[in-house]
Amino acid sequence: MYILNSMQQTQAACDACGAQLVPNAAYCERCGARTRRARRLVRLAIRVELLFFLLVVGVVIAFTWTYAAQR
Ligand SMILES: [Zn+2]
Repeated sequence: MYILNSMQQTQAACDACGAQLVPNAAYCERCGARTRRARRLVRLAIRVELLFFLLVVGVVIAFTWTYAAQR
């Protein structure tokens, strides 16, 4: 539980240049580097997008297969 809480804590300084960050910032104001929180959100978004894409591909394949089997 402690590890989980410390991981979700907002990042105080930039990983790239060490500049102070605004709470819940997505980017560093000095060098433009993404914060850890933003990187995690981007990874999550990519995963959700991939899942959605696979779902659409699966539906298309299933539909094509059903249509081809009917002829
Ligand atoms: Zn920075």
